[in-house]
Amino acid sequence: MTFVKIDGKKIEVGKIICLLRSYKAHAEEMGASITEKPEFFLKPRSAIVHDGEYIIIPPESNDVHHEVELAVIIGKAGKNIPTANAMEHVQGYAVLIDATARDIQARAKKAGKPWAVAKGFDTFAPISDGVLASKIPNPQNLEIWLKINGQYRQKSCTGMMIYTIQEIISHVSGIMSLEPGDIIATGTPDGVGPLVDGDVLEAGIEGIGTISVGVKKTQ
Ligand code: MG
Repeated sequence: MTFVKIDGKKIEVGKIICLLRSYKAHAEEMGASITEKPEFFLKPRSAIVHDGEYIIIPPESNDVHHEVELAVIIGKAGKNIPTANAMEHVQGYAVLIDATARDIQARAKKAGKPWAVAKGFDTFAPISDGVLASKIPNPQNLEIWLKINGQYRQKSCTGMMIYTIQEIISHVSGIMSLEPGDIIATGTPDGVGPLVDGDVLEAGIEGIGTISVGVKKTQ
């Protein structure tokens, strides 16, 4: 079972929907423009790993980056969900690291190819234990951070996100039905960068949790 824990209870993970360019400062560091509606891609659930495990840099890439993100875990199914009801569909929140083979992604962007390979390797979605949504009255005013070997690399606030969680849920559910266990990774703030063999990552979101994972290069 591919799971995320919320308040100690295991929830089976469904699809993982990942937003891009949802923080202005990250869009700028990537030289990308902001879109009116949230843009997203899918990451396979086989990419999930947990606290104490490893991101494995695959032989296909020499430039795997970290992206720390607020993960919204869906608890109630819905299609065409209006923004006014969107939060009823949220069961909880967790911290997700959207590991990205930046070199493969750059080639895919240039060639107009999908990002499935760049984003989809096994171990490319470390996720923390989550908390119930009822414990987080305002998920968009929380400090979000990532450290490598004890040094801050990303430090921002979920309040800097361009879209509200309600807008994201409403938009995504207009395209694909949301189901219990689906995860929406809401995009990363600025400060993304490469990982190397032996690194130790810690990431956290105020009030939600933390996760620590190692980094190994496939020999
Ligand atoms: Mg991302």
